[in-house]
Amino acid sequence: MKTQSVLLIHGGAWAMPDDAVAAHERGIADALAAGYSLLKRGGSAVDAVEAAVAVMEDDETFDAGRGSFLTQDGRVQMDALLMNGENLRTGGVACVERLRNPIRAARLVLDRSPHVYFVGTGAERFARQHGMALCDNMDLVIPREQQRLYKAQADELAGLRDETFSGSLDSHDTVGAVALDVHGNIAAGTSTGGTLNKAPGRVGDSSLIGCGCYADNLSAAVSLTGWGEPIMKLVLGKWAVDRVAAGGSPQDSAQDAIDYLYSRLGGHGGIILLSPDGRIGLAHNTPRMAWGIQNAEGSQIGVTRN
Ligand code: ASP
Repeated sequence: MKTQSVLLIHGGAWAMPDDAVAAHERGIADALAAGYSLLKRGGSAVDAVEAAVAVMEDDETFDAGRGSFLTQDGRVQMDALLMNGENLRTGGVACVERLRNPIRAARLVLDRSPHVYFVGTGAERFARQHGMALCDNMDLVIPREQQRLYKAQADELAGLRDETFSGSLDSHDTVGAVALDVHGNIAAGTSTGGTLNKAPGRVGDSSLIGCGCYADNLSAAVSLTGWGEPIMKLVLGKWAVDRVAAGGSPQDSAQDAIDYLYSRLGGHGGIILLSPDGRIGLAHNTPRMAWGIQNAEGSQIGVTRN
């Protein structure tokens, strides 16, 4: 039986300043177009998610790929996960520094490895062995982020920012997508440069299965953004899809997940959810969240305010 395809994506949830809104809307529109054109031609949900996320990784607006936030050492270190809800095949990479598109490396892991998750140089070697070019880390570093890091570190020295600052609202620009294809299969992907001024080697929620990303045809597909540590502790992605499996609507489940994140650990973030019957959910407790949706009826792009 053919279903109607849907693509829902996000480009971060944080205190996005007014002058960043237009760039986020453009980036979301480009990513929607790339992913939905595949779905429209009968492509798979996994292909659409990969394509949409790769476009946002290539766009310096977002905290993924080139333009990512920098580590304490001034380097880009990225994490990504891709999951196919049809068969639970999954590919994840973390702490990669020489790949322009970590989501494409995650796809290679999903397709071509008996393993599920690679980190650091082992992930880069796996990607290179399967045809991906490695870049120089400095190709991913942009002046805007060098200035942002410099300011964060100066503020830290001046006592204006403490070690809990990854919980601040000024830096959650991770990207993600969930899709439903005409065959009735769902998929999810999330890609990030992590949090500003993170310690080298730190892995956030984004690429961890069931935390910042999950997909199962028997429940739902989910991608999160926000303060990674509380999201990880609550395994919040899986928590949210389980509520859909238990009969909750995707919208209620998305809102419940964000409420739970805040009430249990004081966390903040944003979530997108998609059920196999094409219903969606979206919620955030940050000042703004960038998102877009496309289906047969058309597309909608928003930078929602709270
Ligand atoms: N959740 C990401 C992390 O903690 C950050 C983000 O969403 O922007 O690595």
